[in-house]
Amino acid sequence: MRGIDLLQPSISPSPDAAPFWAAAAQHRLEIPRCNPCGRHFFYPRALCPLCGSRDVGWVESAGTGVLYSFCIQHRSSVPGLAEATPFVTCLVDLDEGVRLMSFLVGVPPEPDQITCAMRVRVDFHDLRDGHTLPVFRPAS
Ligand code: ZN
Repeated sequence: MRGIDLLQPSISPSPDAAPFWAAAAQHRLEIPRCNPCGRHFFYPRALCPLCGSRDVGWVESAGTGVLYSFCIQHRSSVPGLAEATPFVTCLVDLDEGVRLMSFLVGVPPEPDQITCAMRVRVDFHDLRDGHTLPVFRPAS
């Protein structure tokens, strides 16, 4: 298995996502939650996609969920990713009810080693450029 250290994507946080990346730097996974309707949502944005309120805040996620889907990437032309092939991109449904795109680590990038609906938990990958990338690994 290739080392996670080769995975060095370029991160360019949008203003709406700045709290997400600031929390990640402290190895915490935070997600937006609407204050009036109480629902979580993702991706980060200035207003709640469920009720339209601009009164949104951030809460810490438990960092646990299930693998919704994945793709084993054998080729990439993206600097910071090309060197890391093969690697696994994934969609994770957090227990809070939101779906994130991320990377699956800690498992061989082989189809028979990864199962949709497997339990996963967040981990944090400190990049060489100073950002920290939330990634997911099998929970067991
Ligand atoms: Zn709302």
